[in-house]
Amino acid sequence: MTELATTLEALAVHKQFCEDVLNMPGGEKIKICQQCGTCTGSCPTSYLMDWGPREIIAAFRAGMIDRVVKSNTIWLCTSCYSCTVRCPAGIKITDLMYELKRLAIKYDLAPKDGKAPAMTKYFIDSVHKHGRNHEVELMAKFMLTKDWGLPFKFAGTGLKLFTAGRLPLFAKNIRGRDELDKISAYLEAQEAKAQ
Ligand code: SF4
Ligand code: SF4
Repeated sequence: MTELATTLEALAVHKQFCEDVLNMPGGEKIKICQQCGTCTGSCPTSYLMDWGPREIIAAFRAGMIDRVVKSNTIWLCTSCYSCTVRCPAGIKITDLMYELKRLAIKYDLAPKDGKAPAMTKYFIDSVHKHGRNHEVELMAKFMLTKDWGLPFKFAGTGLKLFTAGRLPLFAKNIRGRDELDKISAYLEAQEAKAQ
């Protein structure tokens, strides 16, 4: 593929990414962000983020999609909802963070070497497979691909959880696991229809 074709393809993906975000429920409100900074001031993890939620919204509105998906912000959001309940413009910032993460994975824009995107992907895979997260499976995948030192860092905690029966070695699917597939298929069909 020529350089021009690659650039055009990237622009098309970014355009679709922006449209998807603006089409999420309440997404159009992003346009009325006042840049007041209440979200960043309320965010308990903003001190770890390279850009606060306010800056992520500004970057998104400026079309800086690469910067948005490569910042650690969307991957460090803990979904505490502090920003959402305080935003004077009624913007659903927590949902926005989820959507940015989801679309970054969907359009293969997430940083390839990032640990948080990998953790998010393995979590989603596990929930799809079992109907719930299976921690041992998730950590094993993460260890093999991202961090060999993980078992040593958390050996003590892992052992305590295991002996307390809180860390089962083998995954057990939830009851009604097949129903989850039907719900996922329905939602995916709805999403495809809306596009
Ligand atoms: S609190 Fe709401 S209006 Fe203020 S900067 Fe954050 S998103 Fe924008
Ligand atoms: S929901 Fe996410 S972005 Fe909002 S305050 Fe909590 S951690 Fe920060």
